[in-house]
Amino acid sequence: MIELTGVHKSFGTLEVLRGIDLTVESGTVTVILGPSGSGKSTLLRSINHLEKIDRGRVRVDGELIGYRQAGDKLHELGERQILKQRAKIGFVFQNFNLFPHLTALENVAEAPISALRKNKSETYERARALLGRVGLADKADVYPRQLSGGQQQRVAIARALALEPRLILFDEPTSALDPELVGEVLDVLRDLAAAGTTMIVVTHEIGFAREAADTVIFMDEGRIVEQGPPARVLDNPRHDRTRTFLSKVL
Ligand code: ATP
Ligand code: MG
Repeated sequence: MIELTGVHKSFGTLEVLRGIDLTVESGTVTVILGPSGSGKSTLLRSINHLEKIDRGRVRVDGELIGYRQAGDKLHELGERQILKQRAKIGFVFQNFNLFPHLTALENVAEAPISALRKNKSETYERARALLGRVGLADKADVYPRQLSGGQQQRVAIARALALEPRLILFDEPTSALDPELVGEVLDVLRDLAAAGTTMIVVTHEIGFAREAADTVIFMDEGRIVEQGPPARVLDNPRHDRTRTFLSKVL
């Protein structure tokens, strides 16, 4: 379970997250919608301490992220402990971020071997199986530049899965893709959802939200404006801002 309580984050004088309270149950899919600049990426980045929050708490399965608490004081964890926490939280970016000099298979196997010191041959075997799971069994030995955007993104998802994360954060995983490649990536996300992977997905793909999400969240100006099951939020939004936003993306 992921729990955010009273999360605030500013960049200089710009308050980007203005008190976020959010609970995500294990095995559920949460889709975050909202206009550009509303704080969606900052929220995701705060969950694995890529952004240091100014106030509030982030907990994953009860574990405080980025800090340890002594009395009512927080002390930031050391780099190694932060990396260890981060290894248990997958992150898939808009622009894939694969290592260009590594093959698809090596990209998937890299973190378990270098960060978690896992056994090499077992990791490669698992990496091969994960490439199969995202439909890329035949692309193990090619380099990212030889792959389409959709294929690169599927490698990136396999790479996230290789760390056996407790949850995976997706930041607009299909928005850099040509329209005809969006479907193949959403299919992988649907499979993960069906398998009970805990996921938080920032996306403008309303169709995906409708079918796959347990909870849809609408963010605006650093706040959660609306939250509920997809049918409620998408078809019966309570707030004007949600309505206006949906009329633009639908
Ligand atoms: P988009 O839909 O365009 O991706 P978003 O909802 O993900 O938008 P964020 O990337 O979280 O929005 O940014 C929220 C605000 O914070 C924006 O005004 C952005 O310019 C600002 N911001 C984000 N990161 C930084 C940073 N490192 N330094 C300064 N300002 C930042
Ligand atoms: Mg963003």
